[in-house]
Amino acid sequence: MPMHNRLLGKGVLVTGAASGIGEATVRRLLDEGASVVGCDLAPGPPSDLPGDIGYLSGDVRDTATAERAVAAVIERTGRLDGVVHSAGVGGGGPIHLLPDAEWDRVLDVNLKGTFVVLRAALAQMITQDRVDGERGAIVTLSSIEGLEGTAGGSAYNASKGGVVLLTKNAAIDYGPSGIRVNAICPGFIETPLFESVIGIPGMEGPRDGLRHEHKLRRFGRPEEVAAVAAFLVSSDAAFVSGQAIAVDGGYTAGRDHHVTELMGLGGP
Ligand code: NAD
Repeated sequence: MPMHNRLLGKGVLVTGAASGIGEATVRRLLDEGASVVGCDLAPGPPSDLPGDIGYLSGDVRDTATAERAVAAVIERTGRLDGVVHSAGVGGGGPIHLLPDAEWDRVLDVNLKGTFVVLRAALAQMITQDRVDGERGAIVTLSSIEGLEGTAGGSAYNASKGGVVLLTKNAAIDYGPSGIRVNAICPGFIETPLFESVIGIPGMEGPRDGLRHEHKLRRFGRPEEVAAVAAFLVSSDAAFVSGQAIAVDGGYTAGRDHHVTELMGLGGP
């Protein structure tokens, strides 16, 4: 359940705001009282949001876009309290078959885009006065595929692993300035990106296998990731920084070799 007014008056930028986890985060932040600016390649924000947001159509790889998005938050609230950087793409394939263009596309959006948005946000945050000891909080979106390899993951694995360490680096460099930086590593979450990879015909078998890897035996919902993003932006997470937090239904908890069934300890 959203915690009403937990983020009252906070200025937050959400990238990837037009779909999936980013869109769910916009809704959650609005529910908690934040003033939100969204940024996405899409021409406009989702139409049925529960409040007004500022919106910028643009590419997160572009420095001018990132700086304009930060400026749009400053225009609304006078400071940038938080960023949830959710813009990202899937992609990859076996390395020996992977064209340069596909590698460049995935690394460019997922890793360079994170760098560009972090740079614009941090440049603003370090100029701000502290409020309750903090200058700001940034949340990046990595993945369980930034923590573990996946078959065929190549470029996506590399980009999301890079996001984890760039996030930790930023937490180290800017922690003394009162800026917290954390990565969320979602499991498989039912969004358009997920459906574009897993929802295509022929993927029914892998889809069942993937669902099973989540120890809760289901895929995640965008709102479940948005709830953690809102927590990380909020002062409830005042002592959380430099973490890669899996929101994955237990996917990365470890392996299940079905020994418990052999021992007669199978679950209900
Ligand atoms: P999605 O496709 O539903 O939404 C991503 C949004 O990012 C889209 O609206 C798209 O237009 C926007 N975007 C893409 N490239 C952009 C660019 N260059 N500039 C600006 N906007 C851009 O995807 P999602 O599932 O909500 O994923 C959000 C983030 O979470 C991504 O970083 C993704 O890698 C990560 N993630 C998703 C899952 C999952 O299972 N859905 C799992 C782990 C991590």
